[in-house]
Amino acid sequence: FLVEDFKGTEVVKNSREITGNPWFLGFYSTFLQCLAKHVPNIYSAEMDPLVEKQEEMVQAAILYPLECYLFGEDPDVFLEKLQQSGTSQLCGKVFKGGETTYSCRDCAVDPTCVLCIDCFQNSIHKNHRYKMHSSTGGGFCDCGDTEAWKAGPLCSKHEPGASSSPKENSECQLNEEIMEHSRRVFPSVIKYIVDMLIWEEEKELPVELTISREKVDSYYCVLFNDEHHSYDHVIYSLQRALGCELGEAQLHTTAIDKEGRRAVKAGHYASCQEAKEEIKRHSENVSQRPLHVEVLHADVMAHQKFALRLGSWLNKLMSYSSDFRQIFCQICLKEEAGSEKPCFISKLMLWDARLHKGARKVLHELIFSSFFMEMEYKKLFAVEFVKYYKALQKEYISDDHDRVLSVTALSVQMFTVPTLARHLIEERNIITIITETLLEVLPEYLDKNDKFNFQGYSQDKLNRVYSVIFDLRYILVSKPTVWTDHLRERFLEGFVSFLRILTCMQGMEEIKRQIGQHIEVDPDWEAAIAIQMQLKNILLMFQEWCASDEELLLRSYRECHKAVMRCSTNGRSREKTVFHLCGHTLESRPYRVSADPVSIHLPLSRTLAGLHVRLSKTGAISRLHEFVSPEEFQVELLVEYPLRCLVLVAQVAAEMWRRNGLSLISQVFYYQDVKCREEMYDKDIIMLQIGASLMDPNQFLLLILQRYELADAFKKIKPTKDQVSSIFFCWERYVPGISNVTKEDVIMREIIHLLCIEPMAHSAITKSLPENESNETGLENVIDKVATFKKPGVSGHGVYELKDECLKEFNMFFYHYTKTQHSKAEHTQKKRRKQENRDEALPPPPPPDFSPAFSNVVRILNCDVMMHILRTLLQRAVELETHLWTEAMVQMVLHLLSLGLLEEKQQLQKSPEEEVTFDFYHKATRMGSSALNAVNVLMLVEKLKRVPQLEAQKDTVNWILQMFDMVKRLREKSSLATVGAASGSEATKGDESTQDKEKAERKRKAEAARLHRQKIMAQMSALQRNFIETHKLLYENTLEAQGKDDAIMEEESTSSAIDYSRIALGPKRGPSVIEKEVLTCILCQEEQEVKLESAAMVLSACVQKSTALTQNRSRILELSGDTLDPLFMHPDLPCGTHTGSCGHVMHAACWQKYFEAIQLNFRQRLHVEQIFDLENGEYLCPLCKSLCNTVIPIVPLQAQKINSEDAEAVAQILSLARWLEIVTVRISGYSVKNAKGEKQSLPPFTNKGTGNSALEFHSILSFGVQSSAKYSSSIKEMLILFATTIYRVGLKVAPNEADSRIPMMTWSTCAFTIQCIENLLETEGKPLFGSLQNRQHSGLKALVQFAAAQRTTSPQLLIQKHLVRLLGVLLPNYKGEDTPSLLEVDMFHVLVGTVLSFPSLYWEDAVDLQPSSVSSAYNHLYLFHLTTLAHIMQIVISSATESPTAHTSDNSEEAQSAQSFCREVCQYTSGQDIPGWLVWDCVKKGIMPYLRCAALFFHYLLGVSPPEELLQVSEEGQFKALCSYLSLPTNLFQLFHEYWDTVNPLLQRWCTDPVVLSCLKGKSIAIRYPRKRNHLIELPEDYSCLLNQASQFRCPRSSDDEQKHPVLCLFCGAMLCSQNTCCQELVNGEELGACTSHALQCGAGVCMFLKIRECKVVLIEGKTRGCLYPAPYLDEYGETDPGLTRGNPLHLCQERYRKLHLLWQQHCIIEEIARSQETNQIFFGFNWQLL
Ligand SMILES: [Zn+2]
Ligand SMILES: [Zn+2]
Ligand SMILES: [Zn+2]
Ligand SMILES: [Zn+2]
Ligand SMILES: [Zn+2]
Ligand SMILES: [Zn+2]
Ligand SMILES: [Zn+2]
Repeated sequence: FLVEDFKGTEVVKNSREITGNPWFLGFYSTFLQCLAKHVPNIYSAEMDPLVEKQEEMVQAAILYPLECYLFGEDPDVFLEKLQQSGTSQLCGKVFKGGETTYSCRDCAVDPTCVLCIDCFQNSIHKNHRYKMHSSTGGGFCDCGDTEAWKAGPLCSKHEPGASSSPKENSECQLNEEIMEHSRRVFPSVIKYIVDMLIWEEEKELPVELTISREKVDSYYCVLFNDEHHSYDHVIYSLQRALGCELGEAQLHTTAIDKEGRRAVKAGHYASCQEAKEEIKRHSENVSQRPLHVEVLHADVMAHQKFALRLGSWLNKLMSYSSDFRQIFCQICLKEEAGSEKPCFISKLMLWDARLHKGARKVLHELIFSSFFMEMEYKKLFAVEFVKYYKALQKEYISDDHDRVLSVTALSVQMFTVPTLARHLIEERNIITIITETLLEVLPEYLDKNDKFNFQGYSQDKLNRVYSVIFDLRYILVSKPTVWTDHLRERFLEGFVSFLRILTCMQGMEEIKRQIGQHIEVDPDWEAAIAIQMQLKNILLMFQEWCASDEELLLRSYRECHKAVMRCSTNGRSREKTVFHLCGHTLESRPYRVSADPVSIHLPLSRTLAGLHVRLSKTGAISRLHEFVSPEEFQVELLVEYPLRCLVLVAQVAAEMWRRNGLSLISQVFYYQDVKCREEMYDKDIIMLQIGASLMDPNQFLLLILQRYELADAFKKIKPTKDQVSSIFFCWERYVPGISNVTKEDVIMREIIHLLCIEPMAHSAITKSLPENESNETGLENVIDKVATFKKPGVSGHGVYELKDECLKEFNMFFYHYTKTQHSKAEHTQKKRRKQENRDEALPPPPPPDFSPAFSNVVRILNCDVMMHILRTLLQRAVELETHLWTEAMVQMVLHLLSLGLLEEKQQLQKSPEEEVTFDFYHKATRMGSSALNAVNVLMLVEKLKRVPQLEAQKDTVNWILQMFDMVKRLREKSSLATVGAASGSEATKGDESTQDKEKAERKRKAEAARLHRQKIMAQMSALQRNFIETHKLLYENTLEAQGKDDAIMEEESTSSAIDYSRIALGPKRGPSVIEKEVLTCILCQEEQEVKLESAAMVLSACVQKSTALTQNRSRILELSGDTLDPLFMHPDLPCGTHTGSCGHVMHAACWQKYFEAIQLNFRQRLHVEQIFDLENGEYLCPLCKSLCNTVIPIVPLQAQKINSEDAEAVAQILSLARWLEIVTVRISGYSVKNAKGEKQSLPPFTNKGTGNSALEFHSILSFGVQSSAKYSSSIKEMLILFATTIYRVGLKVAPNEADSRIPMMTWSTCAFTIQCIENLLETEGKPLFGSLQNRQHSGLKALVQFAAAQRTTSPQLLIQKHLVRLLGVLLPNYKGEDTPSLLEVDMFHVLVGTVLSFPSLYWEDAVDLQPSSVSSAYNHLYLFHLTTLAHIMQIVISSATESPTAHTSDNSEEAQSAQSFCREVCQYTSGQDIPGWLVWDCVKKGIMPYLRCAALFFHYLLGVSPPEELLQVSEEGQFKALCSYLSLPTNLFQLFHEYWDTVNPLLQRWCTDPVVLSCLKGKSIAIRYPRKRNHLIELPEDYSCLLNQASQFRCPRSSDDEQKHPVLCLFCGAMLCSQNTCCQELVNGEELGACTSHALQCGAGVCMFLKIRECKVVLIEGKTRGCLYPAPYLDEYGETDPGLTRGNPLHLCQERYRKLHLLWQQHCIIEEIARSQETNQIFFGFNWQLL
């Protein structure tokens, strides 16, 4: 099958007819013949496909020839050419689920406009206010779409080149011949794809495809994916039905989930049919619905598969050329001539819901890559889409696949394009189509009154309906700026159609108050509220659209008014009744909220209210009468329903509806909640204001009283309830249209009132503000005007605090406050005023003026009925009829009075008195004639002052009285004075005089308050002192005691000697500073002094493996220590054992009891998950709850003091050479002694210099011995227990008290922990001594003393054996077989090991001896000097390859010594000459950490005080002080000179070691000193850089494009593929996720990761524990964003990252995990193992 096969079908040129044409048939039939021949062969093995093989065959047999024909040349060459010239200016990248998308809040037309990460990084929006989010999949990058962006539509990558625009470029790209060929090839390919995808015959193929083959009886049983059955259901059904293994069933299920369908059985028709029935039967058993199974003929299956392959082939082709796309689109849109049948693309769309997942994906990608890349065709596609809109949506609603898999999800791509939306509205009537679709899919929820009722609704189905509602939102995203008649008509038509939906909602789901008994079942209320939420912004958008054109606004108002009227019919049958009060009457139809049905769903009324304020705002209200006649208007009827709703809410708050259960409470909550209130509560208030502005005020108030069921309360003496609140909510004027405020003013006022409650985080404010259709709250524009930002600390978040000048805006009765917010705000504000020594009156702020249409509302305040109400309530309060009033009620009355007075004052200040008709003052001071009216309001208020229960309101009452006075004077002034302007200033003057008086009063009060506070403070501090006195030693353990003892010691020493020696080693050794330690057990609270012979006290401790100091993370760690020899530590410090403590002390016995109790407790409650692992000795510290796994016994330091004269005498004889000889003799003596019977366990010494016969085995004892310390049995027990724990944890082995490695591990953890602490002090820049935390100090002290004592619990022979091996590194005349090379040991570990094990050389069979103080001083000195020499050599060797960078020839003494030393060494190494100053420089820098560690070690071992310089941070002073403390010459090379004869052979041995030589020759690299200090990896400042990295991450193990969870290791920077089966690893027979297995290597089980897509840090330990931690990134509001839910730009916070770093270096990760798990129990369910 070659290109020629196609060439045979030459045809008529220029034919534009596609099908039904001879040439088409010609090519088509050849094409089909070819496919009939190959396809069934290629896809024959469906059960077990070899994908690569199939692909190869497809390429060779079909695609390659096809492409050759199409392009007329080698396809690779051709496509390469095509590729080079950029083709489209649209990016069009299709997002997969989880990919990060970016939107610009400044420039995006709506929030659905997004960029892919590449485009974003190359766009101007990078520096704008962007948002980042995780895609749910299915969207596409809008880069290049000029309609999506107000600015910067193109990124620099897609920006057309300056030379030629891509449009021209691509047009001259394809020559006519290729175009011609594509017009021939595409139709056939497309027709084939369409035919095969919608093919319904299971057994047969189209005739054209069957020609060449005989039909065989070969079938597949094919299982389809659905969202109804769970993974486990399918696996179960398959196992049962097919009898297959679990693994196979899992494989099938995974494939089905991914691809949408899969052949699960092959065979003859009958057997497949049988399998099908079986699967159906079994699946029906586990869930009600059977699985979808089909039996397909093998050939059908093969062709369908190939059709999809062709689809992706086309998809690839589309990306190359605009011409291809256009030709493709033309063919897809072509309708068959004379046929009513839909075109190709519509056929596929209509079939979409019936296709399986895999096919849909291919189809949608094809649409994206073709239609959506060409604006013109996008429009044509949209037209087709709209044509079948109803059908498609209905299919989708009855389908069960996710929306991203439905073709209907494409709507957002078209509807949000403004020009397209306008076109679709104007030409296709899309609004009407969408609303009709809604009406057609919802009728099942309509009740007999044609209202919706969602009882027993299906959540899934409604979610699908919401997507139709969303389409409406997309269409309305951009408001037109120009209205044509046609557009206006179509929009109005759509609006009317939309009103029909609202009509079905108006008054839906009515409720009735439950009397007597509680409702049995809470009705479903969620669906109705959810629809309200969905509709909120759509309603607002409709109103905005209407308001943008006066004509339209008035006409839509008329339509809406009509609709409301039609719905306001119920209750009309009732007879009107009459209600009188103080001379006014109201006629109304009887209705009681508490007895009659009521609904909170009134979208029609509220839309009308919304349109009404817009009429008022635009001024079009003056023409309203032309559209709605006053007779028709019927304001009472309009107000009726919203008023009922408000009454309902008030009654629910008054707990009158308690029996109606939670559902009603929830509805009322949402009614007022920020998610709904704009289109519910707020609009009801507006409707009430409309009523107040248009009705007679007295009538209006009567109506309100009646509806609130309060009429009787004011007629007779009857208790009222606190419900009249809506009267002053009529005063809310912060709505554009009701007064002259802007949207900004409104938001500002909301924020002020939120911040009056308390300072709030940005996210908290955002959540409390309503979002507009672009998900914006407008917060940023105004926040800085009203609040100041306070930055966060290392934890917590930044908050906004209200500016002081905004406090006067506070209105206690703000209508959006909830009950709790109201009281909290009141409390906060009163407290604040008190602190400022001001009165506590919180009067309402002066309101803005009503706009003209609403100006009548004020009349309510001074009408007769209002006065009656106020007077009645006040009278009751004054007359102390306590059962008739409450304080809250009086507060409201006072508020109303304040409002009235403020209003009158404002009016008087603005206009001349005679024009002010608002006469609140007059009414309030007027005396009535009747007995009831005998006292006026003002007098009543004055009397209030004397009511004891109203003490708290006194300040408010005073304020009101002043207001009365002021208004009075304003009135008098203006009537007397001729100049109006004077009134203002005089009034303020009058104000001032009263203010002065008040000031004095306040001052007096403040003074009194201050004295009072002082007294209390004094009392408090006295108490505190007592407390400290009594509890002094309760929790504070060592440090305080130590401090005291130190002081005593100092006194003693200063009296005896002027300055005792601060030298730790050698003959000048200073005295140990001994502290008498008296510790308190945290368990029994009893004190005990720490003594050798007493019962043990222990310190809680945690032992863990650690890689915190490693110099080489690529080194593979041994996971199990079974065969490990831990005596020597590699200088890389790859993995050590760290011992930490929380510093809390217990009696060993108390701790044991405690631990047993936990164990017992645990056994009794088997099912309670424990956060700690009892098996491994874990427990939580009883005091601080830190995670611990053992205890350290506290061993007291043994005082040592040497007589300096003795020491000097010894110095005369005991030179280093002599000392070495003695040691050698001792060791060889032992080896002879122990060699009885068996072979000599020690190799012979090179007998150089040991010939001195005067020395014999016992010489070593002659310099002083003493008897060993005797430990109490309980201390010994604890020594063994702790040593075993170190061994068990450090090596990951089973505990074994007799293992020979126990002492090694003890020394190792001691050395390693010191190194960790030294490292930490250095990175934190703290001095070496005196700056450790209490817990670190006591932990280290106990650890070192323990390590010294541990020796006594092991056989001395064993210790000697270890010692000899260690000395192998240092002794000139001895080298063991396994002695490592100088470059393979860490010298500090050797130092610690030898010092701690050295006393074992004094062991004698009969008596337990140890060196005396003087002996130890020399032993320590020489051991230290030897290791130091060795370490200097290490540094010299490792820096030998260093080339000098700067030539600062330093000719100091040190440099010269170094120079001469190097010359000496060169004779052994034959290396080149390195300048002495460079060597000295390297040594001085490199040796510091070692010296610091040694100083720490000897200090904690011997208790000798360090020089003062080490208590401070200073580079130079530190070196000198260290040398002095450790008895070293500051010119370190002098050591070599001094000991030259002794050291020379050693140097020779070290330097001739092959490892050393290879390093010197530069063949291998030795570790450099000082070692690098480990840090967490460097993170980029901008979080989107990380997201960028994550987006480029490809899983190393799998090639599919499935969603991955990239995770970054913060220790080493490795990017891992977490939570995915592809990267799981089998460790010791267990499947571990990528993170868990990485952690084993990288952090010895403990690790810290950053989940990039979630923006969270994960801490994990082992396989079972972990916790989440917010990432160290903050947005500009100082908040973290776990999960990227807010999506603000994020920047690295160094302090927080540093905190994480310390968490690691302090070895507190495990502790943090345990703490977080204890507080946060949710993570128990998580399978950390698979992370
Ligand atoms: Zn893009
Ligand atoms: Zn771009
Ligand atoms: Zn921008
Ligand atoms: Zn105790
Ligand atoms: Zn503790
Ligand atoms: Zn790592
Ligand atoms: Zn993977």
